[in-house]
Amino acid sequence: MTPGPAASAQRRLPVRDDLVGLEPYGAPQLDVPVLLNVNENPYAPSEQVVADIAGAVADAARGLNRYPDREFLALRADLAAYLAVESGVHPAVEQVWAANGSNEIMLHLLQAFGGPGRTALSFAPTYSMYPEYARDTSTRWVVGRRAEDFTLDLADVRAHIDEHAPSVVLLASPNNPTGTALPAAEVEAVLAATDEVPGGCVVVVDEAYGEFRRAGTPSALEFLADHPNLVVSRTMSKAFGLAGARVGYLVADPAVVDALRVVRLPYHLSAVTQAVARAALAHADELMAQVGGLRAERDATVGWLRDRGLTVADSDANFVLFGRFADRHAVWQGLLDRGVLIRETGPEGWLRVSIGTPEEMTAFRDALVEVAGL
Ligand SMILES: *Cc1c(COP(=O)(O)O)cnc(C)c1O
Repeated sequence: MTPGPAASAQRRLPVRDDLVGLEPYGAPQLDVPVLLNVNENPYAPSEQVVADIAGAVADAARGLNRYPDREFLALRADLAAYLAVESGVHPAVEQVWAANGSNEIMLHLLQAFGGPGRTALSFAPTYSMYPEYARDTSTRWVVGRRAEDFTLDLADVRAHIDEHAPSVVLLASPNNPTGTALPAAEVEAVLAATDEVPGGCVVVVDEAYGEFRRAGTPSALEFLADHPNLVVSRTMSKAFGLAGARVGYLVADPAVVDALRVVRLPYHLSAVTQAVARAALAHADELMAQVGGLRAERDATVGWLRDRGLTVADSDANFVLFGRFADRHAVWQGLLDRGVLIRETGPEGWLRVSIGTPEEMTAFRDALVEVAGL
C-alpha cells in the first residue's frame, strides 16, 4: 500500500504506526455496461426469490426491537443442510459458523488463532485481502511463492512451515486470482506438514469458489472428519449470487467454532442478514441453477483464449486468468474504453475476467479482439 494524502492529516492522530498513510484497498467500482471484475454471479435473483426475501425481512423487522439470535442456530442448520446436498459431506450444526462475508470469517479466524507474536502463512499469487487481515490483527504475514503453473511446491511449503511455525496457513482453492484448485494430495500434504508445528496450526482452505469446481475436483470438506485443525470456508457471495447480502461461513471441528465464538462481536449477524440468508437458502436449487451454465461458459472462455494463442491458467472458478501481455494496463484500459471492466491483478502481464452472461462474454471477446489484435 502506498502512503497517500491521508498521511499528513493523520500526523497528529494516534493511528497505529503500521497503518499510517495507508489507503483503503478495493477493486474499482465503476459504472460501465459490462462488469466482469469482482467474480460476482451475473444473474440477479428471480422475482419469486425477491418476494420471499422481502417477506422474511418484513417478519424480521417486526422483531427489530430485540437483539438477534446470537448463535443463529437456524441459519447454521440451513447452511449444513445446503452443504450436505452440495458436497455430500454432512456437517453438524456445531461445526458451522457464519459471519458478514467470508472476509469477516477470516478476521474471526485470525483474531482467535493469529495475533501478535503469531504468523500466518500463504503462497502467492493469492487473494490480495489475506495480508490485510493479517495486518489488521497484528499477525505476522509470511508469503511463499507458488510454482510457475500456480500449483503448490510441496517441498517449499514444508520448508516454510518448518521455518516459520505458522499458527494459521491460508490456502484458497480454487485460488483467486489464478482459478486453480488444490488436488486432494496437496491438501493432505499441507495438513501432514502442519502436524509437526509445535504450537499447533490451523489450515484454512478458502473455498469461496468451491461450487464452480470441475467434476473430479474434491472439496476439502471431505478431509474434515480426520483433521480437527482443518477449516473450510465458503461464501454466499459467488455461486449463490448473494454478494450484496454479506454472508460467509465455515465448517470445522466444534472446538474451532468455540474459539471463534469468543472473539466475534456480540450479535455480529443482524436479524435482517439471518432472514435474508435463510430465505435465499430455501431457494438454493433455483439460485444454483445457473452454476452449470457459468461453468460451461468458463470452459468455453478458456478454450477461446487458448485458441487465440494466449496463456490461460486452468480454472475451477467463475473467472479466468489469462495473458501474458507486455502492457496489461493498456489492454485493461482498452477494454474499459469499450465498456468492459475486468481486473488488472495477478502476476505482471496477466489479467482476470469474471464469467458473465453469454451476452457479456461476447462483448468481452469482441473488445479483446479489437484491443489486443487477436
Ligand atoms: C470473493 C472471495 C471471497 C468472498 O468474500 P465475501 O466476503 O464472502 O464476499 C473470499 N475469498 C476469496 C479468495 C474470494 O475471491
